[in-house]
Amino acid sequence: MDSLPTVLLKPGKADRIVAGHPWIYDGEILRLTQQPADGDLVQVKDHRQRFLGVGFFNSKSKIRIRVLSPERVEVNGQFFEERIRAALAVRQRHLPDATSFRVVNAEGDFLSGLIVDKYGWGEATDEPAREDVRPTRSGKDILVVQISSLGMDQRKAMIVGALQKIFSPRAILERSDVASRKFEGLAEAGGVLLESNTANAGTESGEQAKAWTPTIVNLNGLKFETDLAGGHKTGLYLDQQVNYLAVSQFAKGAQVLDCFSFLGGFGLHAARAGAAHVHFLDQSAEAIEASKRNAAANGLAEKCSFEAVNVFDWFKTQTAVKPHEKVIPKFDLIILDPPSFTRNRASVPDALRGYKEIHLRALKLLKTGGTLATFCCSHHVNAATFQDVILSAAYDTRRVLRRVATYSQSPDHPVIPMIPETEYLKGFALEVVR
Ligand code: SAH
Repeated sequence: MDSLPTVLLKPGKADRIVAGHPWIYDGEILRLTQQPADGDLVQVKDHRQRFLGVGFFNSKSKIRIRVLSPERVEVNGQFFEERIRAALAVRQRHLPDATSFRVVNAEGDFLSGLIVDKYGWGEATDEPAREDVRPTRSGKDILVVQISSLGMDQRKAMIVGALQKIFSPRAILERSDVASRKFEGLAEAGGVLLESNTANAGTESGEQAKAWTPTIVNLNGLKFETDLAGGHKTGLYLDQQVNYLAVSQFAKGAQVLDCFSFLGGFGLHAARAGAAHVHFLDQSAEAIEASKRNAAANGLAEKCSFEAVNVFDWFKTQTAVKPHEKVIPKFDLIILDPPSFTRNRASVPDALRGYKEIHLRALKLLKTGGTLATFCCSHHVNAATFQDVILSAAYDTRRVLRRVATYSQSPDHPVIPMIPETEYLKGFALEVVR
């Protein structure tokens, strides 16, 4: 192990690493004992030669080292198997009933650069809702892997081997189509990494990932037709899994509006929980069509309506009134789950204007006593700032709100307070007092 290239950190740069943050930037390095190859495992020491851990080196990345362990571990198949099993145990503890969830969430599981999602069906029957759609067979999951660091990319085969051993999945797909790969000197990658024999039966060999689209996935007991090969994230917004259930408790008998509905996650949970009616809005016609099919597959189509529209435009039309006329509130529950309006700090002011606008309009359409369930997935807008924006919209519409719940990302997207980058999703349920 001592033969590993050693990286010495500048004085004062060890504390963050000792506290559990995995990133070492180029400017924090004092010197290298020998030049490692990109992707190699290196040992990290402080300027007094005290051992801090091991991690992957990449001279092409600003994040020069991604620390994997504070111990002198060997990074082999067994390492990945143990670490993935440990991550899985966290999910089994905090999401014991989930059939689909994120197994590994990069920094959140101290495996920087690796994401693994498990999409399961998990029912005794493996009957597809439609003939042209693949179910993920009972006990046979589909895994989707997303790799965004060179060190992980070079060990893809080890990772796939470990996943195969732990899950015996029906297939492992790769969705390494994230922009951040270019900062590691990696091109985008995708395709089928593994298919079980059962999955291959009746299909051409060398089948492409596209053949796994659409796949029926079970989330909280609802069926979702998902595009695991090309959809948002790796197919579904798994980070909202517990919030779907939490928000649906406000839905009984309600007129519900699901804004930025994608495949219908919030709205379908609300419909199942006894909503009188759910209206879905998303600007993607494809997403709206898929959510229509999802409503039908779950026997909820009768109480659902859909519109492929820009939410900002729709809100404007709905809240446009003649001078001295008032908007008539129509909804008991409005869900706002927009995409992140910011990619960086510089665009935060614009983003806040966008957040304010949708809250203003939503508050005009909510009945007194109704509930606004609202989310912000931008890492650059914290919960306090987000709430300030909502309060400013409430002031402008002369409404007073009671906060009845606060939300975060589902526990399969662990928040490590020492790694602020792991926390991004925040939300509130707010009742309109008057
Ligand atoms: N609530 C969803 C996730 C929303 S993701 C879920 O739980 O699965 C954001 C969605 O907003 C995407 O489906 C995207 O198509 C849609 N979108 C982005 N900008 C929009 C806009 N201005 N109007 C309507 N939909 C928009």
